[in-house]
Amino acid sequence: MKWSHLLLTLGISLASCASQGDKVPDPLLNSSVLEDQLSEIMESDSHRLGITFSGRPTLVFSSGVTSALDVSADSKQYELEKYNSKAILFYLDRIDVSPFTVREIVDHALGHYYIDNRSKIIFGKNRDMNQDKKERLIDEGIAEYFRRQINNVQSGPGRLDQTDVRNRKADYVAGYYLVKPILDRFGVKKGVDYLLQHPLTYKDLTNLSGYQKRIITEMGRGKT
Ligand SMILES: [Zn+2]
Repeated sequence: MKWSHLLLTLGISLASCASQGDKVPDPLLNSSVLEDQLSEIMESDSHRLGITFSGRPTLVFSSGVTSALDVSADSKQYELEKYNSKAILFYLDRIDVSPFTVREIVDHALGHYYIDNRSKIIFGKNRDMNQDKKERLIDEGIAEYFRRQINNVQSGPGRLDQTDVRNRKADYVAGYYLVKPILDRFGVKKGVDYLLQHPLTYKDLTNLSGYQKRIITEMGRGKT
């Protein structure tokens, strides 16, 4: 099984977050509370982003490194959640020491769930999580858009930076700034559908802003 991951991208290592005792406990950091509140969170996200989810993902909880579901060999210690068709796996002990709130991590994962929802409607199949850079940039960008929009995470002075493409962890940042103007302008539903139907090519990877401009121009002409 291939999963899509949310990585710690803020340069904060787990070791540097050792003072968990100072942290206010996150009420969602509890599997039964999260199960109970998921429908409400999804409804709130739907309103906020102007989208509709179909169904609801299965939640799986793990204490981390010992999980049989942890199939990836790289960057294992940084993963906070994984999404694979219909299921979100949460590493509760890692989330506990991460700089993100549980809600942020849930919203990021719901971004992946929404992409999967739309993929099933548009292409008749689940989103392939065996992604290379082209798909990862779009998927992580959309998932990050969910996280940042819903949680009012400031975008800061960041911008689309072509050099970010070389770094796997930077897919989150590069992807976010790649899709943000498109989703801001045309809305999440139209924007996601169009991005899925007009994916990046290998050539586009060398000119992300060119791709972004092309998508905005095409969508602006109503070519959807
Ligand atoms: Zn992700």
